[in-house]
Amino acid sequence: MARPVPERFDPWLLCEKGASLEGRMDLSVFSRLAPLLDKREGRVLYRLEFGKDGEKRALVRVSVEAELALTCQRCLERVTHQVNASSRLALVRGPQEAARLPEMLEPLMAGEGCLMEARDLVEDELLLGLPVSPRHEEMNCGHALAVEPEETGAEELPDNPFAVLAALRVGRKPH
Ligand SMILES: [Zn+2]
Repeated sequence: MARPVPERFDPWLLCEKGASLEGRMDLSVFSRLAPLLDKREGRVLYRLEFGKDGEKRALVRVSVEAELALTCQRCLERVTHQVNASSRLALVRGPQEAARLPEMLEPLMAGEGCLMEARDLVEDELLLGLPVSPRHEEMNCGHALAVEPEETGAEELPDNPFAVLAALRVGRKPH
């Protein structure tokens, strides 16, 4: 059985130990992500792996898996977005260390003895995985489906002789 994840941890210490943490979190606990969701239900499956590379750099690999309910920017209905992402972060004590990192590593600021929360790392990774403008695929988008019949109806109206008659009658009424 997985041990309960500590609320806060020293990332340097966990890298030293080669520890890993994994579990699930409710999406509703993320204060930055939650307002962007169409529905604040569901969970994220996450894994944090701490360790060191050949250069003795302290690394954290953050992996997340979640199904997010977003709002389609075309039809404003709910669209489900699957996030399956991971990042390799290197602990750094300041901007100078960050600048020395190879391109494939993202810096993660962590002062000596600082404490981190798994929740923040997981939320960052989820936010990175969000599309800029979430949309259904064209053929599945409610906008295309909903608009079509209305437009057809509107186009038929002028050709309908009864509608033209009705309009004339209304026009005569005031006399
Ligand atoms: Zn849509």
